[in-house]
Amino acid sequence: MTEIKKIGFIGLGVMGHAISANLMADGYELYVYNRTASKADDLVANGASYLPTPGQVAAASDLVVTMVGYPSDVEDVYFNDATGIFSGISAQKIVIDMTTSTPTLAKKIAEKAGELDVLTLDAPVSGGDIGAKNRTLTIMAGGDRSAFEEVTEIFGKIAKKARYFGPAGSGQHVKMANQIGIAGTMTAMSELLVYAKAAGLDLPAVIDTLLAGGANTWSLANYGPRILKDDYSPGFFVKHFVKDLKIALDESAKMGLDLPATQGALALYEKLADKGYHDAGTQALIKLWWA
Ligand code: NAP
Repeated sequence: MTEIKKIGFIGLGVMGHAISANLMADGYELYVYNRTASKADDLVANGASYLPTPGQVAAASDLVVTMVGYPSDVEDVYFNDATGIFSGISAQKIVIDMTTSTPTLAKKIAEKAGELDVLTLDAPVSGGDIGAKNRTLTIMAGGDRSAFEEVTEIFGKIAKKARYFGPAGSGQHVKMANQIGIAGTMTAMSELLVYAKAAGLDLPAVIDTLLAGGANTWSLANYGPRILKDDYSPGFFVKHFVKDLKIALDESAKMGLDLPATQGALALYEKLADKGYHDAGTQALIKLWWA
């Protein structure tokens, strides 16, 4: 493959916008597309080219990255007969789906790509909006090992850690393990703050102290201070966490596993979404107690 200079980026939300802005700052030529075109305005003002369909982005780019919302969005962006990536891409190119999606869809994309001699990775991330802005994401990849090797340098520009795990779907499975972990750290953070407040403790001092001990988690370090500032903006949308926990539990059921703590977290987040917080950040979980 020739050196990657032209990167297509599809999905310019909280994560995709920050990542593509960083890649453009690094000197890559960016070809972008988003459902709401105006989210690309500042990128276009800084030199990115907006193209009207994912297929046209794929035709123009050496590498295409997708980071949309739900598996149904991924399906549309890749497989739409008229506008999808597979309608415009040519052999030897690489596509990377960074959306948190299903292992099954990652395999379906890899199969279709294989027919077209296109290389794929499922490469979901962890690290949130802050990680996307500060280039400190963690990337968990599955798919074509040779594609992973080709994009290692690019991953190094947007992430502090990137690892290849195996065939298509492996990256999404690792991400599900991550989300099962986050389910625990978010509920733990919320309940420890609820308890500390009820006990009349100094909450900033509690967070500062616990971060130095065994209850130190990324959730407490990053979302604890946001909660104390009454900042419930995303970050990471409640609606996306509900999606992820459903995928994780669905995959668990396929493996014959029972994960009661993750089920409990999903029930809490569904309750939060029902109260109207689906577009809030996941730290809004505390609102179930501090309404
Ligand atoms: P977001 O802000 O909702 O961004 C998703 C973007 O994709 C939106 O701009 C949306 O367009 C666009 N989109 C959706 N469907 C599309 C389609 N069919 N064609 C073109 N564009 C489409 O969400 P995000 O926070 O960036 O998250 C993106 C993905 O990464 C999700 O799967 C999420 O679970 C995952 N993730 C998020 C975080 C985080 O902390 N935010 C961390 C790790 C992983 P509109 O502008 O029209 O809505």
